[in-house]
Amino acid sequence: MKITKLHDLYFKEFVSKNDIATIVKQLALQVKKDLPKDEVPLFIGILNGCFVFAADFVREFNGDCEISFVKLASYEGTNSSEKVKKLIGVNEDLSDRTVVILEDVIDTGTTLQEIYEIFKTKNLKELKIATLFFKPDVYKKELPIDYIGKSIDDAFIVGYGLDYNGYGRNLPAVYQLTTKPKMKNIVLFGPPGAGKGTQATVLKDKYNLVHISTGDVFRYNIKNGTELGILAKTYMDAGNLVPDEVTISMLKAEVEKNSDVNGFIFDGFPRTQSQAEVLDEFLAEKGERINGMVALEVSEDLLVERILERGKTSGRSDDTDESKIRNRFNEYNTKTAVLKDFYEDKGTYYGVNGVGSIEEITERLSDVFDTL
Ligand code: AMP
Repeated sequence: MKITKLHDLYFKEFVSKNDIATIVKQLALQVKKDLPKDEVPLFIGILNGCFVFAADFVREFNGDCEISFVKLASYEGTNSSEKVKKLIGVNEDLSDRTVVILEDVIDTGTTLQEIYEIFKTKNLKELKIATLFFKPDVYKKELPIDYIGKSIDDAFIVGYGLDYNGYGRNLPAVYQLTTKPKMKNIVLFGPPGAGKGTQATVLKDKYNLVHISTGDVFRYNIKNGTELGILAKTYMDAGNLVPDEVTISMLKAEVEKNSDVNGFIFDGFPRTQSQAEVLDEFLAEKGERINGMVALEVSEDLLVERILERGKTSGRSDDTDESKIRNRFNEYNTKTAVLKDFYEDKGTYYGVNGVGSIEEITERLSDVFDTL
């Protein structure tokens, strides 16, 4: 599902570009069919929202027609308590014309009624109303709507000319307001041995988050001799990455196991660009996102030392052999390090100095976590 963010709110795709095209085509056909032969209608679009719909509508209209736009502006009369509504932009002589008002969306009908009243005084031959979207549940007027593209529930929509505080008019599809993300999801990032696991253990309690370490899940599966463990073992023993399909489906299953949580600390995932893309998509389907990638920055030479030291007690075979460790760094540098750019492009990469005591580093990480 496509999700887009405008200002502070999230919207999910509601009517696709193709579906809109079909609706607009139908509307144009229907309007044409009902007009007397050789009648040249004047379409009047109500700005701003209808500019995209009107442009597509007239191009689907098969026959001569004219198009004009108006804007309803309210200004204060000399008596400041009196608000006067005025249509700006009607320059044509409308007497004896067939006018079809084009609206992007009609909800309560208040604006439409005001516009209708103004047009009624202009000696038209006929006045009709065509709207792309209509909200029957909130419509309060008696005025009949002649043409309705699609009736919808009373949810806030944007796109295809409609905006949220000025943004979103250029979206080719129509989006509906979705719930705000509720979780705090953080990717704890850094090369092997940077201390992600150690820090995640502390931070998950501090921020009440679920810690998912893909490395730990693999090791658990290896220990228990599961199919997944057997598959992952050969890759891990050599210090290679486990193939994406395997890791991604495992990660998804881990997330699904934890519903109704505050959020996740992802440790060791994503490790490739495609893992990062899938993670974004997967969370977006839930109306969620990655708040930030927080990276522990430590130089490689320091890390090899650290890992060899850890290998004396960790029981991890990939921690004891320097060539395997070097290979893990090679995998990191060639496949994983690019993720810094991936998150930096979104403005959600946060680098933290990973050299110091555990407490010092927790404090640095917390400073970032607090802002996410
Ligand atoms: P870690 O405990 O994070 O250092 O991971 C240990 C090993 O598990 C890695 O060297 C990989 O073989 C495998 N692994 C963990 N996470 C991933 C991942 N996201 N993608 C591919 N392989 C992974």
